[in-house]
Amino acid sequence: MNPRQNFVGGQPVAGTGPLFASIDPATGQRNGEFTSASAADVDAAVRIAAEAAGQTAWRTMRPHERARILSRIADGMAACAEDLAATQMQENGKVIAECRAQVASAIATYRYYAAVCETTESELTPPRGDYLSMTVHEPIGVVAAITPWNSPLTMEAQKVAPALAAGNAVVLKPSEVTPTAALDIAAIAVAAGLPPGLLNVLTGTGVDTGAALVTHPSVGMVSFTGGTETGRAIARLCADRLIPSALELGGKSPNIVFADADLDAAVDGVAGGIFEGSGQSCVAGSRLFVQRAIYDPFLDKLRARAEALRVGLPAQAGTTMGPLASFPHRERVERFVQSARDEGGAIVSGGRRPDDDALAAGAFYLPTIIAGLNNAATVCRQEIFGPVLCVLPFDDEDDVIAQANDSVYGLACGVWTGDYRKAWRVARAVLAGTVWINTYKQLSIAAPFGGFKHSGLGREKGIQGMRLYQQSKSIYFGLADATGVA
Ligand code: NAD
Repeated sequence: MNPRQNFVGGQPVAGTGPLFASIDPATGQRNGEFTSASAADVDAAVRIAAEAAGQTAWRTMRPHERARILSRIADGMAACAEDLAATQMQENGKVIAECRAQVASAIATYRYYAAVCETTESELTPPRGDYLSMTVHEPIGVVAAITPWNSPLTMEAQKVAPALAAGNAVVLKPSEVTPTAALDIAAIAVAAGLPPGLLNVLTGTGVDTGAALVTHPSVGMVSFTGGTETGRAIARLCADRLIPSALELGGKSPNIVFADADLDAAVDGVAGGIFEGSGQSCVAGSRLFVQRAIYDPFLDKLRARAEALRVGLPAQAGTTMGPLASFPHRERVERFVQSARDEGGAIVSGGRRPDDDALAAGAFYLPTIIAGLNNAATVCRQEIFGPVLCVLPFDDEDDVIAQANDSVYGLACGVWTGDYRKAWRVARAVLAGTVWINTYKQLSIAAPFGGFKHSGLGREKGIQGMRLYQQSKSIYFGLADATGVA
């Protein structure tokens, strides 16, 4: 079907906004055309979602029955796993192995929230008088979910599965760069038995579709993952409407290597932390701090590791780094690297497009290491969201904690050391939502995830990742004999 239609009320529905195309960043070829949902399309979808959310059938369905539907969605995704992985690869250029891992992670997310839905309990609160008080958790209604292009499969599962588990209806707007997986998964969900209207997908740009969704009067909450400036604009709109927003935003995460670390393990962790996914990860370890005593030998090892990466077509076996997700994004990354040159930085490795003719049609860029700057440089302050690592020396623990925290962001941090006491001290002192010690980018659906400072508000994942989409209600049963008032 071209253009591909939105998915509303359990079926494909043509959008009435402007057309846009999805482009394969590895080849420059068109994947397909889509319509931006107009404000009228958004209105129709939110009304359908509100009706589905308001029906007691879903709100009051017993948790184990709701969980069964979530598990069946996971089964449906597992049956289409290879297609879902290929779809993401064609739209954002991630290597196929990583796309497969992300499908597996999305499936696991649905299974996890099925379990959370079935097993979490309401609370009896301690009485302070002659009454029995309990707290129950109720759905918000319609949740608007807005996602970026770097990991649509996992980011969307992380919002949709807990929001549905919590008893809501969802209107999901995926990034205009990666619209297809969300449409496919909504169809899988309905085939798996999710009542129509509970998961609706509207494709389109932020300006055409996203803004209309955030400001719709029947949307009760916005769950957003994306850039900090977009998140700030969405939070303002939500504040005007007095509705909650959950914001997973950008990062400029420090990865810290002490002289007493296992340097080979650290080189692997640092390279994976920035170059996996071509650095297009919110938690990318993009500021590397290396203790001065090992600075030169560590940088030599790291350069060798970066130059051993195989930049290539994402479907090809042996490729370890695919293209950037879009051509405009590559230009943005190139402007950042130019700013580093202009500010006196030295390009230790990369800093350009690959020479390989077979990659000339795609948005490829080499793994890049920049040295010779300090933490005030543009590339150390702003999120590049590309395969660009800035390396900075440090003297001691206090120095590196001060430098690591000297950022508006606070999403993640890596610490490499053989001293567990030091690891603990640094982990507690760094202002970040996730700290990895002698590992990097290890993520679990069971552990809460989110940012300090400008990296976000609220926590996804874990049991509280379902509570995020609920509001608590306290109910008192009077136990006093005469007046009912204790
Ligand atoms: P973006 O902010 O440009 O867009 C994200 C989404 O918001 C897209 O769907 C876009 O269409 C929509 N949007 C844009 N303007 C809007 C508006 N005014 N109203 C409503 N919706 C609007 O981000 P991006 O370029 O797609 O993704 C990259 C960013 O996402 C990076 O900053 C990255 O750090 C961040 N990110 C954060 C996390 C996290 O968990 N913290 C995860 C992945 C990506």
